Amino acid sequence: MDKYIVAGNWKMNLNLREGEALACELASYLEDHPPEKSRVLVGVPYIHLAAVTKVLASSGAVVSAQDCSEHQKGAYTGEVSATQIKSTGAGAVIVGHSERRAYHHESEEVINQKIRRALDEDLTPILCVGELLSDRKNQRQESVVSEQLKGGLAGFDAAALQKMVIAYEPVWAIGTGETASPEQAQEMHAFIRKYLGEYYDAETAREVSILYGGSVKPDNAREIFGQPDVNGGLIGGASLKAASFLELIRIAEFL
Ligand code: PEP
Repeated sequence: MDKYIVAGNWKMNLNLREGEALACELASYLEDHPPEKSRVLVGVPYIHLAAVTKVLASSGAVVSAQDCSEHQKGAYTGEVSATQIKSTGAGAVIVGHSERRAYHHESEEVINQKIRRALDEDLTPILCVGELLSDRKNQRQESVVSEQLKGGLAGFDAAALQKMVIAYEPVWAIGTGETASPEQAQEMHAFIRKYLGEYYDAETAREVSILYGGSVKPDNAREIFGQPDVNGGLIGGASLKAASFLELIRIAEFL
């Protein structure tokens, strides 16, 4: 397991030229300063996958899609399959992001199927879980997250889990500037690890990378990444500028 994973999520931002330019800035830093403790991942729009993979080829960074179809192939207009993602040279795919759950009504069954498609193609699935503000206000965060884990991971054995990354992203902290406190993040990450330990086994749970996502920025990353059960971050806004994303990589590297 890498000590940290610093994963960007560009969401639906940056045109192709802008994406390539940002990837070039990342590549030139990473080629000169290859991270020793952390793995860098960049989640880009589908149209950027092939070009960004090329730009980052010698950087050690992994390029990720932000979603994939639950179907293998066929008449699904507008969808992109895990096989197609793999063919671009990408190595990972974000699955079950809260924005997909909210705006595309993705069910646990669909998310589970997407993970299966990703694993079939040897792509690392990054399974996102996290509660709404109303869940947290009603102290339902643990039951919501355990249901998401149960549904998403149904039918996968420990060997499959070892190929995945989990991202805890409280929905109330995504893109809002509101961050979970380091204590809140640690509490949920420890809960997730305990849940996985019971569902699988202690060693598998210890090894799985659990990322925190929700308004991570250079000024709060040190404390969050420093929590014992936090293995890095899934970063939206702060991954759109090389300066802030590279700063997050440096923070993980020198913690
Ligand atoms: C995300 O995109 O998953 C995310 C956490 O976004 P932000 O860092 O902007 O809150």
